[in-house]
Amino acid sequence: MTYRAPINDMLLALNHGAGLQAAVKAGHYGEFDGDITAAVLEEAGRFASDVLAPLNRVGDEHGIKLDGGNVTTAPGWPDAYRRWTEAGWNAVSGPEAFGGQGLPLAINAACTEIWSAANIAFGLCPLLTLSAIEALEAHGSDELKRIYLEKLVSGEWPGTMQLTEPQAGSDVGALRTRAERVSDGTYRIKGTKIFITYGDHDMSDNIVHFVLARLPDAPPGTRGISLFLVPKFLVNPDGSLGGRNDIYASGIEHKLGMHAAPTCTMTMGDKGGAVGYLIGEENRGMHCMFTMMNQARLGVGLEGVGIADRAYQQALAFAQERRQGRAVGKTGDGSDPIIVHPDVKRMLMQMRALTAAARTICYATAVALDVSVRAQDGGTRALAAARGALLTPIAKAFSTDIGNEVASLGVQIHGGMGFIEETGAAQHYRDARITPIYEGTNGIQSIDLVTRKLAANGGESVFTLLDELSDIVKQVESSNDPAFGTTGIKLRDALACLDRTSRWLLERVTSAPNEALAGATPYLRLFGSTLGGCMLANEALAARGFSEGEAQRYVTLARFFAENISVQASALERTVIDAAAAVNGADAVLLG
Ligand SMILES: Cc1cc2nc3c(=O)[nH]c(=O)nc-3n(C[C@H](O)[C@H](O)[C@H](O)COP(=O)(O)OP(=O)(O)OC[C@H]3O[C@@H](n4cnc5c(N)ncnc54)[C@H](O)[C@@H]3O)c2cc1C
Repeated sequence: MTYRAPINDMLLALNHGAGLQAAVKAGHYGEFDGDITAAVLEEAGRFASDVLAPLNRVGDEHGIKLDGGNVTTAPGWPDAYRRWTEAGWNAVSGPEAFGGQGLPLAINAACTEIWSAANIAFGLCPLLTLSAIEALEAHGSDELKRIYLEKLVSGEWPGTMQLTEPQAGSDVGALRTRAERVSDGTYRIKGTKIFITYGDHDMSDNIVHFVLARLPDAPPGTRGISLFLVPKFLVNPDGSLGGRNDIYASGIEHKLGMHAAPTCTMTMGDKGGAVGYLIGEENRGMHCMFTMMNQARLGVGLEGVGIADRAYQQALAFAQERRQGRAVGKTGDGSDPIIVHPDVKRMLMQMRALTAAARTICYATAVALDVSVRAQDGGTRALAAARGALLTPIAKAFSTDIGNEVASLGVQIHGGMGFIEETGAAQHYRDARITPIYEGTNGIQSIDLVTRKLAANGGESVFTLLDELSDIVKQVESSNDPAFGTTGIKLRDALACLDRTSRWLLERVTSAPNEALAGATPYLRLFGSTLGGCMLANEALAARGFSEGEAQRYVTLARFFAENISVQASALERTVIDAAAAVNGADAVLLG
């Protein structure tokens, strides 16, 4: 079954739930007036359905091959990548000065969802290139920008991000790859990186690697890391390709999912050292990485949304075709499609509601990141930056967690056929599994949320957001629309739980850090399911201007979320608080 981008849902989420329209009205987007949003998404949806989705299965079955340091991708993939760059999809939000279209990140976020839904392994390549563009644009020298930025923006030369080493995963500061200064101002890089996505492939003439390494006299830990641009092929001053650089794929991984996306071991230095060019200042590599982390983490969150939506669409279609049993109250011969059964309806609603909430959280993050750089007024930019920073770990972890849950429900709805590869439901489940792991595990995101984002300004960013969400709940309550059921009450309760839990954690972040860390993951879930519930309610309020059927659809979805998902807030509050006790006693159980 192919994929169709849910344009109406996406537009509602973007314009109303995520606040794009309000930000445009407030003048934060300059000349961009939002008129072309729908057309861009429709065109992206067409490209995804026609070009990318048909290659999803091919890539999964064929995988990739490594031969003599060269990786080849599945049949049709290099051609699809060429069409992708020629159509300009890589350059949607790229800087105009370097050939990009300069459209908001929020528009690109919606496109990223579309690519991920159609073919998550393909979409991963440009996702990393975008991060590379951001790092180079913010920190690169004019000369490096002149040579590389246009090619990265167009996608002609995709980028990679190389942090991980065998002993340095979540703990990036433990990396050992060495960089030595050379008299001509360049560096020679020697070392081995593992798990490098699209580290080598045959979809482009060149690849621009962004490598973290350590100078001989660097201080230990994250304070001694520098960022280098290391091209696969050296580039002559006139832009033409020169000799092969000393960076090779020496191995590829055999993985649970994402079979079509190469995951490479990269070896540098077998022939004297890879030529590297410093980005930013020596020993300030982590600073450069932080610039692009928000966007990369948001991108992975959008992978969660995309895969969830794909799994949902497929499960919905299957549930309308597969016949088993009779609807309650029906008699006689024959059988009904399984969608008539309340438990199947519940699973489908759960899938759809979780996907919609994660979508809006991700889009709202993108709008905040946009406003943080586009708004005229410094105060507005600072507030938006704080909002973007707060939402980023939630967008990444909540969306990828629900991506897994939704893909699992997709398998469940297929029954036994879900476990058989033929239907494709199993592939979504396998592909989704990496998303809570890479780009900072979801455990690390939760720690970031509690120790940095909540703790910033004594919790001000969190409490300001809670006030805004409370206003939405007031509007639901004052709407007096019986179709909302107990949405207002359930969301108000959830907000109270989130408020209390935030204060409880704030008190412990410094005084009892182990207690705060033990509750970080359930806190992030509490945050996501309360925020998502309020955002869907806000969309339902905005949809009241639509046709009766449409309006009804969004109110029912918001109500389902509030009454079935946000309602878990009080249990999550208890879990955060009691996690400390559970963790304190854990050693006796685990190691006793
Ligand atoms: C398919 C794939 C593609 C990848 N692509 C790239 C890439 O392109 N570039 C790149 O550089 N890397 C890439 N990675 C690496 C990825 O980012 C790491 O696997 C990830 O950051 C986790 O590191 P790790 O595997 O060493 O796990 P570990 O850091 O060993 O973590 C293991 C477990 O311990 C937990 N943990 C670790 N430290 C803490 C802590 N301080 N507090 C609480 N819990 C903790 C983690 O949450 C996790 O549950 C990729 C990995 C895979 C599998």
